[in-house]
Amino acid sequence: MARIAVLGGDGVGPEVVREAAKILATAGARFGIPLEFEEGVVGGAAIDKHGTPLPQETRQLCSVCDAILFGAVGGPKWDSLPVDRRPERGLLLLRKELGLYANLRPVKLFAPLVDTSPLKREIIEEVDLMVLRELTGGLYFGEPKGIVPVENGKGKRGVDTLIYTTHEIERIARIGFQIAAQRRKRLTSVDKVNVLASSQLWRQVVIEAAKEFPDIELDHMLVDNCAMQLIRDPRRFDVVLTENTFGDILSDEAAMLVGSIGMLPSASLGDGPGLYEPIHGSAPDIAGQDKANPLATILSVAMLLRHSLHHESAAAAIEAAVSQVLERGYRTPDIWQPGPTVLVGTAQMGELVVESVVKG
Ligand code: NAD
Repeated sequence: MARIAVLGGDGVGPEVVREAAKILATAGARFGIPLEFEEGVVGGAAIDKHGTPLPQETRQLCSVCDAILFGAVGGPKWDSLPVDRRPERGLLLLRKELGLYANLRPVKLFAPLVDTSPLKREIIEEVDLMVLRELTGGLYFGEPKGIVPVENGKGKRGVDTLIYTTHEIERIARIGFQIAAQRRKRLTSVDKVNVLASSQLWRQVVIEAAKEFPDIELDHMLVDNCAMQLIRDPRRFDVVLTENTFGDILSDEAAMLVGSIGMLPSASLGDGPGLYEPIHGSAPDIAGQDKANPLATILSVAMLLRHSLHHESAAAAIEAAVSQVLERGYRTPDIWQPGPTVLVGTAQMGELVVESVVKG
């Protein structure tokens, strides 16, 4: 029996997770995978209920489960809290505590959405790349961190620290090369070597790690250039390996290659159970309106089946079901365009994918 922790979180999180959990249960029933679901509270919802974004009982649930299905956390209600007490802290702590250092963000265009992106068809057609983001180091975790008074008493100083150790870079680089080996065998390591000491170490360690993987073609790119090349010529990329903050920003940018941030799934892997979540946030502007696209979370469930439960056929069935529903013209508002398409809400989109998984 595989135990799945279900953490909806805030805003659209619970809405998209509800649909994704249904699809996971449907795939489990079709492929004979015994699953047990248990809900946990996290983020702003947990602050409201327990005064902390990651309560002990949620920690406990996540430490004993086989995989975590996660929605999103955060929202204007909690924006005035100090950074270390905000909903987002709950997710950062969970990533850190479970040692989830490798964040896989596949960016693959579904053919029916080729005209949904603001970019030209000839640039994005057949885009298929993987952003591999380091997830437990860098600016989001480095110490010292905080807002402190300056010595002369005039104003304050906001401090974040960008730190990477050889070990942290080595282990994520190795995963990058392994992923590239299963794809088109190209790895682009993205850094800011011209300015940052952490990037100088990053590049040295990646070059050293490459010696173990002679079949992989490695190149290096500065992050500012990468931001431009992702729009100019995205098909040149296979695996994009980068540190935490750069990966966060570049993958949101990459979302536009496939039409909407509501289409991009992710898997966070490492020492403990894998965590699967859409790359988007809690989208407070559309929360509670049945407008959120659940497909990023549904595709995250496919990743959960592939990476945590090692059930490739069930994962592929969910991806095929999403593709079928899009081919039949169904669209949530973020990917809708005038023409022969049918506008649907979050719940109906989920139901359509369920039906498609059942039919096979
Ligand atoms: P966001 O990703 O929530 O939203 C950005 C834009 O994309 C919004 O216009 C939103 O409506 C749209 N969008 C997002 N998901 C969508 C979906 N599934 N379907 C259709 N449209 C979608 O980013 P934001 O507005 O910068 O942040 C909102 C809150 O989410 C903040 O509190 C932020 O800290 C938090 N956040 C959480 C996570 C996480 O939990 N992993 C990630 C990013 C942001």
